[in-house]
Amino acid sequence: MDLELDPTDRDLQARARDFTREVLIPLEDECEEHDGLTPQGAASAKRAVLEWDFAAINHRPEDGGRGLDLFQQMLVEEQWGHATGALWDIPWRPSIPLASGTEEQKERFLRPACRGERRDAYAITEEGAGSDPSMVTTTARRDGDDWVIDGEKWHVTSGDVADFFELHVLVDGDPAQATVFLVDKDTPGVRLVRTPKYMHTFVFEHPIFAFEGVRVGEDRILGGIGRGYELTKDWFVEERLMIGARTVGASTRALDLSLAFASDREQFGRPLVAFQAIEFMLADMAAELMAAKSLLYRVCWQAARGGTGRKELHALAAAVKLLCSETAGRIIDRAVQIHGGRGYMREQPVERLYRELRVDRIWEGTSEIQRVVIGNELRKRGHGVYSGWV
Ligand SMILES: Cc1cc2nc3c(=O)[nH]c(=O)nc-3n(C[C@H](O)[C@H](O)[C@H](O)COP(=O)(O)OP(=O)(O)OC[C@H]3O[C@@H](n4cnc5c(N)ncnc54)[C@H](O)[C@@H]3O)c2cc1C
Repeated sequence: MDLELDPTDRDLQARARDFTREVLIPLEDECEEHDGLTPQGAASAKRAVLEWDFAAINHRPEDGGRGLDLFQQMLVEEQWGHATGALWDIPWRPSIPLASGTEEQKERFLRPACRGERRDAYAITEEGAGSDPSMVTTTARRDGDDWVIDGEKWHVTSGDVADFFELHVLVDGDPAQATVFLVDKDTPGVRLVRTPKYMHTFVFEHPIFAFEGVRVGEDRILGGIGRGYELTKDWFVEERLMIGARTVGASTRALDLSLAFASDREQFGRPLVAFQAIEFMLADMAAELMAAKSLLYRVCWQAARGGTGRKELHALAAAVKLLCSETAGRIIDRAVQIHGGRGYMREQPVERLYRELRVDRIWEGTSEIQRVVIGNELRKRGHGVYSGWV
């Protein structure tokens, strides 16, 4: 078994690390102070993404993406995950279901999004529909040659900077006809309801949008009527693996910072690390990080290069998301503790990570929902997908 990165992957990882250090981390204070970037900061960050060739890493070169496989995407996102303020979201990553569009849809939505000229936001969640998307009440009804959409979507990440939505709706209110529509934000009837504030500082917002009599053509249906869950599931799988990557990256930074602080800071005439209470916290952080990272690398490698099936990957991605995000929660909690009062100051990266990592146990399916997915897999096919490795 060869567990070494090949030279191409190693080079990519190093470039992503440099990008994080040279572009993302220097923007952290600005992001925290302004609750987002200034227009100048945002413009220079966008230029940097293009210069460093990190636009649309998840899409094929034919569509203007970098064409990285899932393992390579994970290597890159792990490095970006070191940055606070969710600055990892600056390099745009158009959602993967856009690749299922028609040629005309790709020309209008995907390719400009890969070039950074447009930006998408994926809108499923509603006030009454979160973990259970069958409770969505946003509907599309046929009216002549058009479709008319009514409803409201919550927590639409990057909805402030997006100019179109992948909108998860039920055709005629029927959960068996869940469908994704591509809706331009400037279509009459699309209205910003409000922009709530959240626990974390995030480079973009998560607004609530209303869709009131929004009229679109047949050509805005992505992948066909009734394919909504399938497309959304593809999005979930990719995002869950990338949450795994970013939480491992954030955990690594938390450990780095904690080790450095515990070595430098002295109390009672000794560095903190000389107290076994602190040393043991660091030891647990290191061991748990190793376990999460090993799982992440194994599953992403298998997905990219080992021929994992679609169902198998769905089941595995749930375990990656669950384990990596829960591990990160424990690691960052200890990091704050090790930093003492400084760990509670917003000017410290560990404080920001503490607030920012919390959502990783909630979005893209809560930890409970990941356990539901894993439980379903156990009931249907047994534990082989989790335990059966040589
Ligand atoms: C910052 C942020 C950004 C987001 N971005 C987006 C976005 O871009 N697009 C989008 O569509 N959505 C987005 N979401 C929504 C997110 O995916 C949902 O919040 C999440 O799926 C949970 O849904 P809910 O909040 O309605 O909680 P609920 O579904 O109401 O769940 C509440 C609690 O009940 C538990 N629960 C529910 N069902 C079960 C069950 N069967 N078994 C055990 N426990 C259960 C949950 O785990 C949770 O603890 C975002 C959310 C946040 C906070």
